[in-house]
Amino acid sequence: MSDEVDEDRRPSDNVILGGRPWTLHRANLPKSEYGRAHIDDRLIEVDHRIRGRLELDTLIHEMLHAVYPFLAEDPVNDSASEIASILWKLGYRKVN
Ligand SMILES: [Zn+2]
Repeated sequence: MSDEVDEDRRPSDNVILGGRPWTLHRANLPKSEYGRAHIDDRLIEVDHRIRGRLELDTLIHEMLHAVYPFLAEDPVNDSASEIASILWKLGYRKVN
């Protein structure tokens, strides 16, 4: 089955980040990319194939970009990994 066929059936969530509405979409990104934050469109794309701690880290990473668009990649990357690591250690897991 092609990923493109399922594109429209992947769920999108409406979320609030930084006090503004954003769309969080499960996308079919290039293999080298787990997530993207499109600041001007208030759209976060996270690859639909990632799971577990990588998914948690990527979600936090892109949400930090959304809330703090002025932050550089390195502090976003480091902070997301630290937060994901702590949440993972505390036992937070996706259940569905
Ligand atoms: Zn980034």
